[in-house]
Amino acid sequence: MNVILLGPPGAGKGTQAERIVKEYGLVHISTGDMLREAVKNGTELGLKAQEYMTKGALVPDEVVVGIVRDRIAEPDCERGFLLDGFPRTVAQADALDKELASLGKSIDAVINVVVPDEELLNRLTGRRICKSCQRPYHVIFNPPQAEGVCVCGGELYQRADDTIETVRNRLDVYHSQTAPLIDYYNNKGILIDIDGTGSVDAVFEDISEALKARV
Ligand code: ADP
Ligand code: AMP
Repeated sequence: MNVILLGPPGAGKGTQAERIVKEYGLVHISTGDMLREAVKNGTELGLKAQEYMTKGALVPDEVVVGIVRDRIAEPDCERGFLLDGFPRTVAQADALDKELASLGKSIDAVINVVVPDEELLNRLTGRRICKSCQRPYHVIFNPPQAEGVCVCGGELYQRADDTIETVRNRLDVYHSQTAPLIDYYNNKGILIDIDGTGSVDAVFEDISEALKARV
């Protein structure tokens, strides 16, 4: 099973992805995590991506499409993958379709996690991420057991782009460039809307039920 997790920044894609991949044995592919790793390591890709990411803009399509193309062609993706944060533009979705067709694969379901902007602002400005395993927490909604420390023992940090100004920009970018993908996948008959405003457990239950009905 190959699945796309669609939704605005802060909808809970990373939070749900961790559970979905465990339940279904899928490979988790987060372009945001891959780009942040490249920035941390100071690679050529990281240097290029950083200028866009700090502003809350999208990294150019050809750059992101290139890293996803390489990743989904790796042997572990034969067992199925979960795309998180990709595609984010219609051009990326078209490129993904072409790449999958050449690999003899397709997308089985697109989970669209729906959360209003006001709630997204609260979620993103209170988000903390594990430096080691990238697991997301929230200072109020989903606090770690020990302050500042992940269950894996890693240190928590606040993403540089989780400030109020950058979050506003990211939400604008989402509405103008990514939201058109809702119609794109609805027209293909593979879109599943999920209410993302409930508890983490309730949202996961809805996603699980929807995926079970598809496979
Ligand atoms: P995304 O990957 O879509 O950007 P995250 O999974 O990182 O979103 O979640 C954004 C923030 O919202 C995190 O701080 C996370 O702990 C919190 N969060 C995730 N799901 C929920 C939920 N159902 N209710 C409240 N807070 C949530
Ligand atoms: P995320 O972790 O998904 O919130 O992504 C963080 C940032 O990485 C975004 O604001 C973009 O700058 C960049 N990014 C991640 N995925 C993509 C993508 N598919 N296309 C373009 N930019 C991306």
